[in-house]
Amino acid sequence: MKNTSDNECADKKTKQDLTSLLGQDKCLFDLEDRWTYAFDASGKQAVPLAVVFATCPEDVCAVMHYASTRRIPVVPRGAGSGLTGGAVPAAGGIVLVLERMNRILEIDTQNLCAVVETGVITADLQNSAEKKGLFYPPDPASAAFSTIGGNIAENAGGMRAAKYGVTKQYVLGLEAVLPNGRLITLGSKCIKDVAGYSMTELFVGSEGTLGIITKAIVRLVNLPETVKTLAVCFPDIQAAGRVVPLLLKSGVVPCTLEFIDFFCLQAVRNMGMSDDIAELIHPDTRAILLIELDGAADAVKKDAATVRNICETCSMLSFHSARNPEERDRLWAVRRSIHGALTSLCPHWLEEDIAVPPASIPVMLEKLQALATAENLRILSFGHYADGNIHLSVSEADAPLSLNRTEDITRKIFSLTVSLGGRIAAEHGIGLVKKEYLGLNLDDATLDLALQIKKMLDPEGILNPGKIFPGMSETKILHKPDRQ
Ligand SMILES: Cc1cc2nc3c(=O)[nH]c(=O)nc-3n(C[C@H](O)[C@H](O)[C@H](O)COP(=O)(O)OP(=O)(O)OC[C@H]3O[C@@H](n4cnc5c(N)ncnc54)[C@H](O)[C@@H]3O)c2cc1C
Repeated sequence: MKNTSDNECADKKTKQDLTSLLGQDKCLFDLEDRWTYAFDASGKQAVPLAVVFATCPEDVCAVMHYASTRRIPVVPRGAGSGLTGGAVPAAGGIVLVLERMNRILEIDTQNLCAVVETGVITADLQNSAEKKGLFYPPDPASAAFSTIGGNIAENAGGMRAAKYGVTKQYVLGLEAVLPNGRLITLGSKCIKDVAGYSMTELFVGSEGTLGIITKAIVRLVNLPETVKTLAVCFPDIQAAGRVVPLLLKSGVVPCTLEFIDFFCLQAVRNMGMSDDIAELIHPDTRAILLIELDGAADAVKKDAATVRNICETCSMLSFHSARNPEERDRLWAVRRSIHGALTSLCPHWLEEDIAVPPASIPVMLEKLQALATAENLRILSFGHYADGNIHLSVSEADAPLSLNRTEDITRKIFSLTVSLGGRIAAEHGIGLVKKEYLGLNLDDATLDLALQIKKMLDPEGILNPGKIFPGMSETKILHKPDRQ
């Protein structure tokens, strides 16, 4: 594979070839422009040789065919909101941006599905479906800017997974371009479809390493009749954690059950929280659960009463039901702004996205608290508790972790997770940042099989190289300058 030094631009011939394949308005070669596509939300960065924008599947086929004959790496990119470095051009090469393929081609109200180009923003699909009385349930906190292609490639989860599942449950069919430039179509609008291997699923969660997804058929459901949003305050995180197994046993399936600890809440407060919401929060609060129930009005009312009883047995401090849609939005704004608010507390957190079986949440929280005390760490947590997904932000008590400590603490957190039957990646993928730990969840034979699939589809190793698999080289990663 062609190796390049930092900041190097595509050579004259590659520039000419890409320009004549796609046209000048779809190619960027200037260093400033290429830097704009050097990173994602993980903080990792590497400068590509060129950035190209596809506007149709034919563009993608042309670029992949060209890149495979010249053995140039290609990295597909949606909105670059990924948190594990998946869209970072770790080996240089071409960043292929899908953001201009953003048409919603069909909302099919008869068959309850939508056909979209994969550069469509997640919230745009959600809003278009709602206008027709339908509902696209996957709801990552990044929905306002992430793309459907990125969601599919990462098998994104989000707030409503406990009741509605994650992105993979909504993908009926895909159109994708293979590393050699061939276009394939997988699946259909049919709910039942066993015509051949179920290959659609192979591409969901493949993190841009097997093919570039250009079109998707996604399932929609009917909009629920009612939604009730509850904000419940607790005196400590363990009390909030105890709600989860009790709720699971009760038969109530909340649409969302989001957990926010005291420090995350403080961070949002510091950044600016609307006064009415700040007043709702009991002064002794150390943890909040944001619970949303949806469905038929009678059932939601009954479920809300059950939730209240359970929260009372778990020492809740206060229980509030959103009075109108505007208040509901303001409550959700607290949850959605955590990620941004944490950056103001510390420039570099070690961010983890782990999953444990949902009933193990209280035990995991205790183990994390013990780790924080033993290692003198600041461990902040929030996340999607009903499905066992905890997001962690970790630093020293008053400073970012050094790179050596990052490695050590990551291993400790992952080993606690695995000891409870958990997974080291719940919804943010493996990408660059977790690839050396994948063996903690996958045995050698499984890893080997995955690698064989990758090699069969991408024999030249040009599609998003250096991602997912342990030991795969990354040549151009630059760490942010203030990290030693
Ligand atoms: C504030 C914030 C909140 C977030 N909240 C959540 C959350 O609640 N739940 C959750 O699951 N994630 C969350 N994320 C992570 C991120 O938004 C998701 O992983 C999202 O799915 C990435 O979409 P994207 O379009 O930005 O993809 P990118 O970051 O551009 O790419 C992600 C990966 O997908 C590949 N890819 C992109 N498009 C394609 C395509 N068309 N074909 C093939 N491969 C492709 C890329 O190569 C890369 O490997 C959050 C991120 C942020 C910054």
